[in-house]
Amino acid sequence: MSFLPRHLGPDAAETRTMLETVGAADLDELVARAVPATIATDRPLDLPAPLSEHEALTALRRTAAKNRVMTQMIGQGYADTVTPPALRRNILENPAWYTSYTPYQPEISQGRLEALLTFQNAVMDLTGLDLANASLLDEATAVAEAVLMMQRSNRRSTSRRVVVDSRSLPQTLAVLRGRCRAVGVELVVADLTEGLPEGDAFGVVLAQVGVDGDVASLEDLVEQARARGAFVTVSTDLLALTLLRPPGEQGADIAVGSAQRFGVPLFFGGPHAAFIACRKGLERNLPGRLVGVSVDSSGRPAYRLALQTREQHIRREKATSNICTAQALLAIVAGAYAAYHGPEGLRAIAERVHGLAARLAAGLAAAGTTVVHDRFFDTVLAEVPGRADEVVAAAAERGINVRRADADHVSVSVGEPHDEDDVDAVLAAFGASSPEAGAAAGELPAELLRTDDYLTHPVFTTHRSETAMMRWLRALADKDLALDRTMIPLGSCTMKLNAAAEMEPISWPEFASIHPLAPEDQTEGWRELVGQLESWLAEITGYTAVSVQPNAGSQGELAGLLAIRRYHLSRGDRQRKTILIPSSAHGTNAASAVLADLKVVVVATAGDGSVDMDDLAAKIEAVGDELAGIMITYPSTHGVFEAQVTDVCAAVHDAGGQVYVDGANLNALMGLARPGRFGGDVSHLNLHKTFCIPHGGGGPGVGPVAVAEHLVPFLPDDPAVSADETDAFPVSQARYGSAGVLPISWMYIAMTGAEGLTASARTAILSANYVSARLADVFPTLYNGPGNLVAHECILDLRALTKASGITAEDVCKRLVDYGFHAPTLAFPVAGTLMVEPTESENLAELDRFVDAMRAIHAEMTAVAEGEVTAEDSVLRRAPHTAEVLTADEWDRPYPRSQAAYPLPELRLAKYWAPVGRVENAAGDRHLVCSCPPIEAFAVDAPASAGEAIETGAVETAR
Ligand SMILES: *Cc1c(COP(=O)(O)O)cnc(C)c1O
Repeated sequence: MSFLPRHLGPDAAETRTMLETVGAADLDELVARAVPATIATDRPLDLPAPLSEHEALTALRRTAAKNRVMTQMIGQGYADTVTPPALRRNILENPAWYTSYTPYQPEISQGRLEALLTFQNAVMDLTGLDLANASLLDEATAVAEAVLMMQRSNRRSTSRRVVVDSRSLPQTLAVLRGRCRAVGVELVVADLTEGLPEGDAFGVVLAQVGVDGDVASLEDLVEQARARGAFVTVSTDLLALTLLRPPGEQGADIAVGSAQRFGVPLFFGGPHAAFIACRKGLERNLPGRLVGVSVDSSGRPAYRLALQTREQHIRREKATSNICTAQALLAIVAGAYAAYHGPEGLRAIAERVHGLAARLAAGLAAAGTTVVHDRFFDTVLAEVPGRADEVVAAAAERGINVRRADADHVSVSVGEPHDEDDVDAVLAAFGASSPEAGAAAGELPAELLRTDDYLTHPVFTTHRSETAMMRWLRALADKDLALDRTMIPLGSCTMKLNAAAEMEPISWPEFASIHPLAPEDQTEGWRELVGQLESWLAEITGYTAVSVQPNAGSQGELAGLLAIRRYHLSRGDRQRKTILIPSSAHGTNAASAVLADLKVVVVATAGDGSVDMDDLAAKIEAVGDELAGIMITYPSTHGVFEAQVTDVCAAVHDAGGQVYVDGANLNALMGLARPGRFGGDVSHLNLHKTFCIPHGGGGPGVGPVAVAEHLVPFLPDDPAVSADETDAFPVSQARYGSAGVLPISWMYIAMTGAEGLTASARTAILSANYVSARLADVFPTLYNGPGNLVAHECILDLRALTKASGITAEDVCKRLVDYGFHAPTLAFPVAGTLMVEPTESENLAELDRFVDAMRAIHAEMTAVAEGEVTAEDSVLRRAPHTAEVLTADEWDRPYPRSQAAYPLPELRLAKYWAPVGRVENAAGDRHLVCSCPPIEAFAVDAPASAGEAIETGAVETAR
């Protein structure tokens, strides 16, 4: 059985019906009319023939078998851990969790918002700081974000220097070097054992636990930094913090690190959730997404994303960061891990890990081997003059990977799965024997230890049995709408099928249990998979080479823009620092440009939604030889194939600029046109859109960067080998970024092949045009391209009816919840509109269900426009309706309850009940609460006091 019919929604008969509605004889004709001839590809993609699900899994098993699973004691930012089966099965392998979208619509996202809040709460408690966000992409980029955050928020300092602890992880230093160089921050990497180096600095980064395992006391350095007016970031380890004094208590402004060891597999380097926490006062500069607590229309507690006014989709080049997709699913796992083990459980794991490290140290010392640091948590550094390679090899013979620090030193990191036998095998590799019982080592002095309570909220004690955990996770998932319940028609997000066969391999130990720094002879399978995937993506996009290193679209943008910048520099064009970006661009484009030290000039949109060619010419003229390039999205975020795209590219090339094609919309192009052939020099792709990696409630993602021949030398560098190179630019801490989820995209391409990818794109175009045609008489599509057709998405223009009725596009989104739908993309790229992207995976019945809902909503809006009811009292403005509101003994609304709950008859058979009413955003931003609210806030009989209960402990935010 071929996989393609499983992936595509419409079958042959449905396709015919849809073509009829759109007015095309067949798919060939539709595509020929929609896709401009100037860009259409002249040959089919050259990819291997498609495999069935079973065949593809068999082939991939063969590849996986070329990796060698070892006991992983390398450490260096990645600790071996145990993913509790209850979390693996109920979260990581559960479509209710992994197919959900970023919680921008809070009413249908309460479950994942609560899970992310649990993560934030755990991070805040363990770091001893006031606020934490809902994850960053990896530890190294989190440190880079923290540095930029210190620079932004330390208004009193005029310094451009940051001092960084030389004990930081090498991959952190590698990423930081590139990022600081790109924006002109002077980075001073210094040994801080004797204090801070001379000179000014806006910030200092301290490592609480160094790469060699030594635990530092922070207070003196924090004080010195304070005295110089510098802010302090501390990189740290969440498990160690169950024992160690938290950075917040020692005066840190910011703490960062990786939450990987809270139950997330090594995954050959990622995806892992990084965390960032800060003290109050810095919240408006905090990068990434932040979950906060507010109240709903009934006064009950409700969660939602807070302070979105900091983010790139609103602030563009003035945003706090370019991070959009982060690591939500992995943060959810880490938060659930904290809830499952609770404070005593985590402390017990930490003590066991520390005890095993102490056993190792005692055994080494007894054998006369020098243990370099006596204050360690889980990592022991041994001095073995001239013998490091020999010890590493002897350990490998015993099935264990340890870290070669240099020719004379080996470090060993203990993780949760390890036991005394592992430690004794390592000792044998050193030529030492097991220590005698009672031999003491590694006792940490009291001044380093914490004495306070943490994880005291009931969420960290009530889900400790597996039954309780299973039901909590189920109860949370039941509150949410994910792809396992309904289509998610979010424009630009490509919420297509994430097939089970694509997902399965990511849990195989041969992929999941490989350390990113394992020797090459143990990772042949991984490198084969990456090589194949990169070459397939190069073929699909028409570029010369691809790097999968960027772990989100935003990071692919940064990598691509840095490639452009470095290319110009290599030719002596230092002045080429201005990038043109059309006004319709995604907010990350402008935010990424800033991180590459490029100046943004906006190009206007013409009346038909395309790039305004006159304005483009004027801007190119005005910018002159400072033009670095242009960043366009194709097909544009206006949902159309712009016929003049080749002219746009030519105009920029003629002026000496490079063309960046944002490839987030590649789903409309696969097999039909190749950006590398119609004018692009560089693109990023979003594997979590076009290539089936699920969104996971806001991540993980993969944003490969693809480049033409002349930009190949400027692809992201390997963070492991580039640490000392002065012009290297890694964009993630691991060479292959979020490698762990790459098997998903590999499976999709292997199972669909050239024909299937092309069929995906063609069907996606058909589906968008079908929705557009069926709604044309009620909600006209704002922009149509060639052939009066849209690409793979359409912008529904509500503005006329909004003007007549007062009912906004946001009201429509909330009302769609009552109909059981996730809203389309709201107000992007045009205010007052909804952007619909059905994807190829929805069948005709589901598309019609959506169309019926939208038409019914149109009728409801019309009733308001005609004065039958005011906007304020309408079923739209009061949406969504909870069961509690609808079953209350009192009912004073001008519409019947049945209209609120069952506006279409089918809803009586299958109904999604919103767990909360409309969520108040402004109130939640004024009193920012980013931890789990006290139980009293949920008192059933007193919703009115919820607000008060929540506000205890709120961070009052100043504008
Ligand atoms: C999604 C998207 C991005 C950003 O990608 P992330 O993976 O979320 O960082 C950039 N541009 C466009 C057009 C997008 O749709």
